[in-house]
Order: sequence, then structure tokens, then C-alpha cells
Amino acid sequence: MDLLAGLGRVLAEGIVADRNFPPFDRATRDGYAVRAADLAEVPAQLEVVGEVKAGEWPEPGVCSVGRGQAVGIMTGAPLPTGADAVVMVEHTSTALSSHPNVAKNATLGWGTLGCDTLGYDTLGEKFVEIRRGVSRGENFVPRGAEALAGQVLLDRGRRLDHAGIAIAASVGKSRVQVFRKPRVAVLSTGDEVVEIDVMPGPAEIRNSNSYSLAAQVQNAGGEAVRLGIAPDEPRRLRALIEEAWIEEGLACDLLLLTGGVSMGKYDLVEQVLGELKAEFYFTGVEIQPGRPVVFGSCGAGFPACADGEVAADTRARAPAPHKKCFFGLPGNPVSTMVTFELLARPMVEALAGMTPRRLVFLRARLKSEIRTKTGLKRFVPAVLSGEFENAEVELARWQGSGDIAALAGANCYVVIPPERERIEAGEWVPLLMR
Ligand code: AMP
Ligand code: MG
Repeated sequence: MDLLAGLGRVLAEGIVADRNFPPFDRATRDGYAVRAADLAEVPAQLEVVGEVKAGEWPEPGVCSVGRGQAVGIMTGAPLPTGADAVVMVEHTSTALSSHPNVAKNATLGWGTLGCDTLGYDTLGEKFVEIRRGVSRGENFVPRGAEALAGQVLLDRGRRLDHAGIAIAASVGKSRVQVFRKPRVAVLSTGDEVVEIDVMPGPAEIRNSNSYSLAAQVQNAGGEAVRLGIAPDEPRRLRALIEEAWIEEGLACDLLLLTGGVSMGKYDLVEQVLGELKAEFYFTGVEIQPGRPVVFGSCGAGFPACADGEVAADTRARAPAPHKKCFFGLPGNPVSTMVTFELLARPMVEALAGMTPRRLVFLRARLKSEIRTKTGLKRFVPAVLSGEFENAEVELARWQGSGDIAALAGANCYVVIPPERERIEAGEWVPLLMR
């Protein structure tokens, strides 16, 4: 892909330094290239014998620094031979003078060679007075100190962010090889759930989960395929699940189901997956919201069901069967979001070719006391505010994990350990950013 189109994609190749970084001893200050030994005693007067701008090459012999000499140098310019440090211009004064007694008639900072800033005769030599000593190696980065030619700067499996783009750009990679995005099927379940462009009946609700999940999948580096809504009816649910795995052009790498995994009479997802010979890796997590979440895979021999038109049809067109994973996420919107972030996101990242990142929990000071029930690790929508190092967090007012409106004001989740019944205001608490 073109480099910029690769933003958010996962590298399928390592990005390698094509030359040394920096490629030359690079000045990191505007000032004078000097020999540190000449500044053993300060103030010292050095003869200015040249100037290097960024982009100029100081030809040795033409522009080099001998004993008692200095060369004007700009940030990003190569250090001339002979110099072993750079003095910041802020610590210098210059004047044109036939006498190295510049202090009396000095002007701060730059003089211009051949031009008389103080009204001196332009025929005089130019000297710089330096008021501060430097150590060898100060104010420049030696050639190759950041990276050596051939060194891998970004590993395969890294997701390209703006810094990664800068690294690729700096080694001349205008095109990058990236992995295909994994296709993640999203299937909502529930007799009460209707599509978002349909006017819901009095007992119906709109399918927001397919959209939040599709957005989370995209954020995680996947491509979401929304499969619509399955009713709480086993045959249709099974047919739609099979479709997600098998139907041509829809071959998906992962299936996300929402709803139908808790204890209700019509929560059929686990049952139907069981009929499909699914292997479950876990069928619940000690968290709230999201406790009933299930994770597993359907493997070789799939589809296992014998009846149903869709099944027969898709079996004929099935690719070589292999294991594919699914998550059954709880239907409550906040549960869906939290369980995706905690459990499904690393899976999407792995399928994207990425080395999955560890979840990062920040910490902030709690604004007001929390009282809660023990037993489960809780993720409660919260508002992180405050500036710089004074971050403060407060729980959002919410009616539980079905409360979508509460998410509007929230920007993170406070994580409450299972054993805590009460957390005092002022305590530092872990946060999961949204
Ligand atoms: P369930 O997990 O199926 O018991 O659903 C739990 C709650 O989430 C119920 O109040 C459902 O109406 C709601 N819900 C289920 N699926 C969705 C969805 N796709 N979009 C929005 N809310 C949903
Ligand atoms: Mg349901």
C-alpha cells in the first residue's frame, strides 16, 4: 500500500534502516562547532572559519575546525571534521575585529562573516567569544547513534501509527507491505432487536450492538461484516451462524455474536453452538458487566447439523474446514463493549497479524467515593477529567449495563477489584480507556 494508506494497518514486513541514523554527526543546537579542549578556560575567543547550514556538507579541509577555531553550525547540519562539540549560540558573542578582544564590542549570538554588524571594518577577522565550556560529544548526535544501517526499526506485526509512518518515511518506504484485515462477522440476536432504519414497535429496540461492535472491530484493525439479526429461534440462528463461517465471499476469520448468552429461556446461542460441535474455552468470566461471555471455536467436520436448506447449500460450497473462533458476547450494550475490549480485541489483533498488545490501565484519582458489591471485577463507565498530572475520575451516573445514554458523557471505565466494597475519594484507581 501507499505509506499513508497503511495507517492503522499491520506491517507484513519489517522496516529496516537503509542508512545510519543519523547519517552524519548531526548538530542538535544552533551555535558553533568547536573543540571542547579549546574551552578548558572560559571565556575563550575562537576564530570563526566558516559556517554550515543544514543540508550543506562541510568538506574536510575546506570547512574544518582546527585548534582555536570554530565553525558556525545550525541544528541538523553535519559537524565539521576537527570539531567534537557544539556550543549553543546563546552562550556566545561575536564581533568582527582585527583583535581577538571581542568582549568590549560584542553583539550577542551571530555575526555575519564579511558583514560588519557593529560598524567594524569588514576586513578584520571574525571571532566568537564563548562564555561556557562544553564536554566532548555535547550537542550533537554521532553518526549511527540512533540506528545502524540494516537495523530493524519496526517489526513485522506492528500496527502503523503516525510515528510508525514517520519511521517508514524516514527510510524511504513510500509503499509498505501490510497484512489483509481479518474479516469479523457480527451477528446480533434477539426477537426484540430491529434494524436501525426500522421504526421499532413498542417492545422493540434498535440494533446498536452490531454497530458498536463493527466500530470496535475496525478500531482493532479488522473488517466488520454485519450479518444482521438472528431471532431467538434455534434453526434460524444456526443457519445464520453457519453462513457466517462458510458462505462464499463471506468466509470470516472470527464470529462475534451478541445477546442470547445469559440464563434466559430464549438465550440459545450456547445451545446452538453446542449443536454445531463447538468447543468452548470458557463460558463465563468473573467480571461485571459481561459475566456470561463465551469463547470457543468450531472445528473440523463443521457443519455438524444435517437439516436445513442453508446448511445443505453452504456445505456444498464450504472451503476446507478448519477451526475458527467465536465470541458470544452479552447483549447489554455496555457489556458488549467491555467484553469486546477485554477479550475479543486481542483476538482480532492476533488475526490481523499483530502482536497483541497488553491492555493498558491508567490510574487517576477518584473524585468521589464508590460503594459497590464484592465478588466480580467491575468496569464502570466514568468520566476522566482534569489537566496534565491532575487527572481525576468520577463514575458516570448510569442505570446499569443497558444504559447507552450514560456512555455519552463517559470516556473510560473505572476498574473495581472484586474484593472492594468501598473506595474512598482521593484514592488512585485503575482505568480502562475507551
Ligand atoms: P440478552 O443478552 O440477549 O439477554 O440481552 C440483554 C439486553 O441487551 C436486553 O435488554 C436486550 O434487549 C439488549 N440487547 C440485545 N441485543 C442488542 C442489540 N443488538 N442492540 C442493543 N441492545 C441489545
Ligand atoms: Mg436476547
